[in-house]
Amino acid sequence: MPDVDLVLRSTRVVTPEGTRAASVAVTDGKIAAVLPYDAEVPAGARLEDFADDVLLPGLVDTHVHVNDPGRTAWEGFWTATRAAAAGGITTLLDMPLNSLPPTTTVDNLRTKQDVARPKAHVDVGFWGGAIPSNVKDLRPLYDAGVFGFKCFLSPSGVEEFPELDQEQLARSMAEITGFGGQLIVHAEDPHHLETAPQKSGPAYADFLASRPRDAENTAIEGLIAHARRLGARVHVLHLSSSDALPLIAAAKREGVRITVESCPHFLTLTAEEVPDGATEFKCCPPIREAENQDALWQGLADGTIDCVVSDHSPCTTDLKTPDFASAWGGISSLQLGLPAIWTEARRRGHSLEDVVRWMSAAPAELAGLAQKGAIEAGRDADFAVLAPDETFTVDPAELHHRNQVTAYAGKTLHGVVRSTWLRGVRIADNGTLAEPTGRLLERKN
Ligand SMILES: [Zn+2]
Repeated sequence: MPDVDLVLRSTRVVTPEGTRAASVAVTDGKIAAVLPYDAEVPAGARLEDFADDVLLPGLVDTHVHVNDPGRTAWEGFWTATRAAAAGGITTLLDMPLNSLPPTTTVDNLRTKQDVARPKAHVDVGFWGGAIPSNVKDLRPLYDAGVFGFKCFLSPSGVEEFPELDQEQLARSMAEITGFGGQLIVHAEDPHHLETAPQKSGPAYADFLASRPRDAENTAIEGLIAHARRLGARVHVLHLSSSDALPLIAAAKREGVRITVESCPHFLTLTAEEVPDGATEFKCCPPIREAENQDALWQGLADGTIDCVVSDHSPCTTDLKTPDFASAWGGISSLQLGLPAIWTEARRRGHSLEDVVRWMSAAPAELAGLAQKGAIEAGRDADFAVLAPDETFTVDPAELHHRNQVTAYAGKTLHGVVRSTWLRGVRIADNGTLAEPTGRLLERKN
């Protein structure tokens, strides 16, 4: 083994082969070996002993809206990556919209990378965007290192990022498939949204009725049909409608190249509990009923849903007006995803190994990040140290993202992130953040 600089020891290390007492040897920011718990610490190496706190691979959050540059009053790379680090996330992928410019050309990507570089407390990669006008930009963007392309099928909420109609979807998908890329899709069908009852006001039930499950189900059905015909690789973003699970499961069985994510808010919050006017709970697609949530957990348990990622989509406080129709849609949860999911997962009989699969291994695989997502030799020494049985009450003032609006305020959650490590460097220590050492990631073939 090459010279070891650091040994991380815990009675509970979550590895791909299960959880066990182990000592993880780190050399030059990479995991050199996973050794027996009582392995001798090599001369010159520093020992960090976490006792019974759990050592997890750093989380990979592939769905974050950082909005920087452009809408930096909403969020930015400095604040978002601090929140990520404090929450046990060591890699995030930025969504191509809500920043100005959007990530729809190589020039725009470079602009965003330049802004992110000095502010990144965790590793940061970028999704590109597929809009009606940029088919010719997709290949150059892919060659420049984006991890795939996001599109909308219904209005995105910002005018500089228009949705694709079915013809444009097929054209972009064919182009992306031609060079081996993947399309990640906000799947809500515009016709179902247009014909749903649109009633403004503070009642959550009215908002829920305006974004029906059928909008998701129909969009996903169409997406599967395109993917099947073109042999395309597609990913369903933020699945909320559990009615779509049988469609997706059947497509997977048939060999359609489809993956699916859901989000902490769909899996831990319910429509029944949203108070009138509480638009910090507004997102699209919406948080649905408790019965829908039970079915989503079943989809996670049986593997129909692959990943759990935040869809952290913040805004300024003033945009969360008490009217559900006009308030900005988006939930801020970057720092809270791990404890939120762990709290519900343990209640439902799932293990931390399951949580690691959904929040680290599977998102790393989605993005093709072979160096992330697991504690095993050769991978980056990225870790979260978690006290899984300890609880805390969410105080928005302790969150590091820019605007301390959150649907989780006042909730008591299990799982305190003690520290976070990026390539062998402690980047967060009980909520105190180190100077930025994150790197920009580019897709590799
Ligand atoms: Zn999103």
